[in-house]
Amino acid sequence: MTKNESCKELNPVIPELLAPAGNYEKLVTAVHYGANAVYLGGKKFSLRAKAGNFDNEMMRQGVQFAHEHGVKVYVTANIFAHNKDFVGLDAYLTALQTMDVDGIIISDPGILGYARKIVPTLPIHLSTQANVTNHASASFWLAQGAGRLNLARELSLQEIREIRKKVSGELEIFVHGALCISYSGRCMLSNYMTDRDANQGSCSHPCRFSYTLLEEKRPGEYFPVEEDERGTYIFNSKDLCLLDMLPQLVAAGVDSLKIEGRMKSIFYVGGVVRVYRAALDFLTLLPKEAWEAPEAIRFPDEFMQEIMKTGTRGTTENFINERPGSAEMIYASSRAEQSYEPVAVIREPGTEPLVEIRNQVVPGEHIEYMKQGLELVPVKIISMENEAGTSLSKANPGNRVHMRTDPPLPEGVSHGILRRQKR
Ligand code: SF4
Repeated sequence: MTKNESCKELNPVIPELLAPAGNYEKLVTAVHYGANAVYLGGKKFSLRAKAGNFDNEMMRQGVQFAHEHGVKVYVTANIFAHNKDFVGLDAYLTALQTMDVDGIIISDPGILGYARKIVPTLPIHLSTQANVTNHASASFWLAQGAGRLNLARELSLQEIREIRKKVSGELEIFVHGALCISYSGRCMLSNYMTDRDANQGSCSHPCRFSYTLLEEKRPGEYFPVEEDERGTYIFNSKDLCLLDMLPQLVAAGVDSLKIEGRMKSIFYVGGVVRVYRAALDFLTLLPKEAWEAPEAIRFPDEFMQEIMKTGTRGTTENFINERPGSAEMIYASSRAEQSYEPVAVIREPGTEPLVEIRNQVVPGEHIEYMKQGLELVPVKIISMENEAGTSLSKANPGNRVHMRTDPPLPEGVSHGILRRQKR
C-alpha cells in the first residue's frame, strides 16, 4: 500500500519540489520562486563540470541561505569514479557533513560504500545515473544504504506505481528538463566525438549536432538528411515536461519532483520552479473528492503557457504514458525556442530597486515582473540611474541600476526577475 493510498480520506501528500542550483545565484533564484530543495555540485566528484559549481565556502553560504528559508540542499558526488578519484573523497564527505547538507547524490557503488563508512548519518540519494528501472533494482540499492532513489527517466507511470508499492524508500523522478537519447550515463557520443567525458560531467552535447549521411564506399560524399534547409538533428530529443501528469504522479506517492538544468540560466530556473510551485500549490488546495480521479485534474492553460515562455525545444512526456516515437524528437533545430527573455534581476529592494541588467533596456519599455505564483505585474520603465546617481538613456547587460517603474515594483522583494517578450 502506498503512502497516498493509505490515507485515501485525506488529500495526498504533496511531494518536494527539487530544483537545480548550478551556482549561488541560481540557488537563490530557486529558493525565491518556491523550491523545497535544491541540488548542486562541488568542484570535484560531481557531474556537470561546466555548471560553475560551488567551492566549499560558497557551498557553506548556499546551505546557510537555503536553510534560513526552510529549503534542503543535496550535493552531487555522482561521477563514476576511477581509483584516482578517491583521493580527497574522505575529506570532502566530512566537509559536506560539517556544512550540514541534507543529502549526497551518488551513482558509484564504491563512493556509496565510502560514504556509508565516513559519513554514516548523511542521507544518500541514488543518482539517475544508476538507471533504476525496476523494483528489484530499487530494493537492491535501498538495501545498500540509499534512502532515496532517483528513478530512471525511461519508466512509465504504471512502472513507477509498481515500484512504489514494493519499496518503502523515497522515490524521486525528473519532471522537467532536457533528455538524453540514451539511458542516463550510457551515452558515449561525447567521448568519441569530442573527447569530453559525459560521465565526468563534460558532455559536449553531440546529440544536438546536425548530421549528414555517409555511404561507406563513397568517402567524402555527404548526403544531406534534411527536414529543412537547416539540416536534421536526428538524435535531438524534445524536453521533458510532466506538468500535466503531476496529479497522477502525486497520487502515485512519489516523494520528490526534480527539475533538470544546473547549466541553464537563472531565467529558466526561476521560470520553471515558479510554474511547478504554483501547480503543486494548486493541487494542495483541491478538495479531497478531486483525488478520486487524479487523471481528470486539469491545470488552467496559463500554467503550460508560462512553461513555454521559459525556453524549450518542445515538450514530451517521454515514457510516462507510452514509448516515445519520432514525434518526441525535434528535427529542425537544436536550439531551445524562447519567446521571452530576462531584462533584469532585482538585487536590492526599495521604491526604486537596484536591479542587475541582463539584456539591454531603455526607459519607456514595457516589461513585466515575475511574481512568485503565476501572477505577472506589467510595468513601464520610467527612468534608470546608475549607483552614482547618473540618469541613463539605456542600460546594458551587467549594469546595476536603480529602476523607477509605473506602477512601482513591489517593495521588499529581492531576487525577483523582470522579463519582456522577445523583440
Ligand atoms: S550527447 Fe546528448 S544524449 Fe549523450 S550524454 Fe550528452 S546530452 Fe546525453
